[in-house]
Amino acid sequence: AISITDMNKWYGDFHVLKDVNLKVKKGERIVICGPSGSGKSTMIRCLNHLEEHQAGDINVLGTQLNGNLSNIQSIRKDVGMCFQHFNLFPHMTVLDNCTLAPMLVRGLSKVDAEGAAMAYLKKVCIDNQADKFPGQLSGGQQQRVAIARSLCMNPSIMLFDEPTSALDPEMIAEVLDVMVSLAETGMTMLCVTHEMGFARKVADRVIFMDAGQIIEENSPQAFFDNPQSERAKTFLSQIL
Ligand code: ATP
Ligand code: MG
Repeated sequence: AISITDMNKWYGDFHVLKDVNLKVKKGERIVICGPSGSGKSTMIRCLNHLEEHQAGDINVLGTQLNGNLSNIQSIRKDVGMCFQHFNLFPHMTVLDNCTLAPMLVRGLSKVDAEGAAMAYLKKVCIDNQADKFPGQLSGGQQQRVAIARSLCMNPSIMLFDEPTSALDPEMIAEVLDVMVSLAETGMTMLCVTHEMGFARKVADRVIFMDAGQIIEENSPQAFFDNPQSERAKTFLSQIL
């Protein structure tokens, strides 16, 4: 589904991603972790061209990301993304948040878009809040709406960038539960998260990044129980 080959990225003269290589098969679940500033967000933002890489190749769902606008648009239709801050449209109801892109980008009718949206909102147990505005919901509820909104586009891949790190502890579990059930549907997922319980439960592989490089790549069991590098050991001792 995704193939990153010798990818490099700079912000000005700051070399933020260095020779990144990563292949993700359809249906695989990848957890990405690593210290603050190691380039995790930058890497996954490159996958839907929210950031542009300067060297190497990124191929997503068979399409090369090379700055070509129609390629970018086609990839964004099929790659959903959830951020730390939910990025819902504050002036639109929950339901309208969920139907906007399917109507505009996929050309669904209002009736069809609303039908699909209500089904996804039900899956994340928030269908009873469909007419509220985001500001009237808790953080955990807003994040579940954000996930449902992405799913309404029927994506082939879902990217998550620390979706629970802005949430109170009691709301983290409700969002992780939604992500676990999404994983069980066979969705291809790349998740930047430090939630180890989640990683152990669903990840096929854990990627550990430091200073713009992938330092380790292993099963969650092997990575958490027996990290290889000093940097991963230090990192894990800090989050455990
Ligand atoms: P965190 O865990 O704090 O979210 P991260 O691993 O996601 O960190 P990135 O956000 O990818 O890290 O940032 C990687 C590096 O790139 C950091 O040193 C950051 O300061 C720098 N950086 C990020 N965005 C920009 C930007 N737009 N311009 C310049 N430098 C940036
Ligand atoms: Mg980040």
